[in-house]
Amino acid sequence: MVSRVIPVEPFDLVIFGGTGDLARRKILPALYRRFRAGQMPAGSRVIGAARSARSTNDYRAFVREALVEFGSADEGGQVESAFLALVHFVQIDVTGAQGWAELAAQLQPDRVRAYYFSVRPRLFGALAERIQSHGLATPDTRIVVEKPFGNDLASAQLLNATLAAHFEENQIYRIDHYLGKETVQNLMAIRFGNMMFEPLWNSQYVDHIQITVAESVGVGGRGDYYDRAGAMRDMMQNHLMQLLCLIAMEPPAKFDPDAVRDEKLKVIRALGPVEPHHIVRGQYEGNGDLPGYRDEVGNARSFTESYIALKAHVSNWRWAGTPIYLRTGKRLVARSSVINVVFKDAPHSIFGEAAGRHANLLSIRLQPNEGITLKVTIKEPGPGGMRLVDVPLDMSFAEALGPDSQSATDAYERLIMDVIRGNQTLFMRGDEVEAAWAWTDPIISGWTAAGDVPKPYEIGSTGPGDAELLMKRDGRQWQGINP
Ligand code: NAD
Repeated sequence: MVSRVIPVEPFDLVIFGGTGDLARRKILPALYRRFRAGQMPAGSRVIGAARSARSTNDYRAFVREALVEFGSADEGGQVESAFLALVHFVQIDVTGAQGWAELAAQLQPDRVRAYYFSVRPRLFGALAERIQSHGLATPDTRIVVEKPFGNDLASAQLLNATLAAHFEENQIYRIDHYLGKETVQNLMAIRFGNMMFEPLWNSQYVDHIQITVAESVGVGGRGDYYDRAGAMRDMMQNHLMQLLCLIAMEPPAKFDPDAVRDEKLKVIRALGPVEPHHIVRGQYEGNGDLPGYRDEVGNARSFTESYIALKAHVSNWRWAGTPIYLRTGKRLVARSSVINVVFKDAPHSIFGEAAGRHANLLSIRLQPNEGITLKVTIKEPGPGGMRLVDVPLDMSFAEALGPDSQSATDAYERLIMDVIRGNQTLFMRGDEVEAAWAWTDPIISGWTAAGDVPKPYEIGSTGPGDAELLMKRDGRQWQGINP
């Protein structure tokens, strides 16, 4: 099945931080792929802006290298040349006064203008202010801001206030690239496009939910940032929280940005405080071949967590009594993001206890190998009485819909095109981000107050043993982390 491409109107996109890592790895290749797919029309412009001086030709060479490294299939071909012809460069220090007139000269008056803030968050205020003061904001202007969006409630509020001083909320696109993943949107399609799941989607039928976002890599080159953030701020407060919202929210009246985000916000606000003994923090240890967390970040006394598991409660009518277990970590056994909805046992087994009891399990795999599996119970084949076994009804989206359907469109491609189309459904609203921090802050300050020390775990494991205990104490267990 080939996905339909609906071209957008020609637009101007300015990437502040156009020479940075994010621009190179994600933004520029994403734009190129949308151009190659016919969605980004010729006549659009991509303007890289950065502090260091370089000519447009040099910048095109830089972009070309990025495409080769991160996604171009037709190196040096006509499509690539046509794309590069749309690329320009302007030297601007976003805290200074130079370069803005040159930028203004590059922009067309009557079209969508997107400013991608791919610079450190502490520059956002200066950048937003200068875009306005140099008259570069039109009614059709949008700004795109990257995570981290604050590192606690107070800083997120300040950042929101800073941006709100210069732009309307409907012009601000806070990216959480998890929301751009195909299967994450499929979560909504599965829940609200099928009759069979929704009647069961509550505490009467669902025993518990597990959300796992496991990475096999370590902190890599982000050690400095990561050691100040940790898994709670880097992953839990945003990506896992967003997944939790999509899995737990009420059906919005329509698939409209504010209707969806209103429902997500209600979930975050319904999250109860997390008991300290319902949280497990971990830190990976070196194994001879690979360095441990502390060596990787270069901080021998670091107490930052590279792993966190916790048990959350959404305190509302739908979910009262159904815990949601969340875990995420680095250097785990495999890269795998899965949501497991574990249903309750049948209330009474007519086959007797010897036949075994089996709960249904709905697994929604976000990466890799996106798809869903429903485990159902059937009779074990053969004579000799009634014994029950679980079999998976497995649907891999790639197999069912063809490879073109899958993550061929990566999250950044989809999200950038949504910015151009003016669709904020998959972007976090300011109040959502603040509510997420309001839930996260007391958890983090609790660790600081208690002098909490993360538990060590082995590289290539599923995390610290205490995370298994967290489940065992409740008579439950984590599903495996499989590649
Ligand atoms: P980077 O350090 O690689 O690049 C920073 C860019 O900002 C460079 O182009 C630099 O020239 C430019 N810059 C710095 N100071 C400037 C100034 N005063 N005026 C104009 N330009 C200036 O950083 P990055 O990894 O590309 O990250 C950019 C933003 O995206 C950060 O906010 C980061 O937190 C966020 N982010 C990055 C990633 C990633 O994978 N790299 C992922 C998520 C979020």
